[in-house]
Amino acid sequence: MEKRACKLNLTKKKSKDGSHVSPILSAEIKNFLIDIDGTITDDIPNEEPERMETCEPYLDALQTVNKWYEEGHQICFFTSRTEEHRDVTENWLEKHNFKYHTLLMGKPRGGNYHWIDNHMVKATRYKGKFTDLIEKEYKIQVFKDE
Ligand SMILES: [Mg+2]
Repeated sequence: MEKRACKLNLTKKKSKDGSHVSPILSAEIKNFLIDIDGTITDDIPNEEPERMETCEPYLDALQTVNKWYEEGHQICFFTSRTEEHRDVTENWLEKHNFKYHTLLMGKPRGGNYHWIDNHMVKATRYKGKFTDLIEKEYKIQVFKDE
């Protein structure tokens, strides 16, 4: 797959002592981390890798992900498939014309994800429809000092 040259609008900052800190994407660009199994195609466990080649993509996911890519967002597929499934996964993504930047294997299995990071994190649970995102108010858990 020919990858688009990654031209990121990263803001580079220095701390007060002049040392570098991690660069930050401009606010309008999202770093999407998107699950594969059960989110953009059927939920295929690692124990049945033969299905990874023949499964069909969810078309609303394909359209939405490719739209986000064309809008300039970063698309990273983040999956619990392991490195031994990388080739079949990359071939499948290419075969179905998914546009993306990176593929991370080895996401912990089992769900109940709770991501803690010094950068802003938002999460969206996939429940069967892959659309543009809308805003809703929810209760979330934060550290006590916020
Ligand atoms: Mg999944």
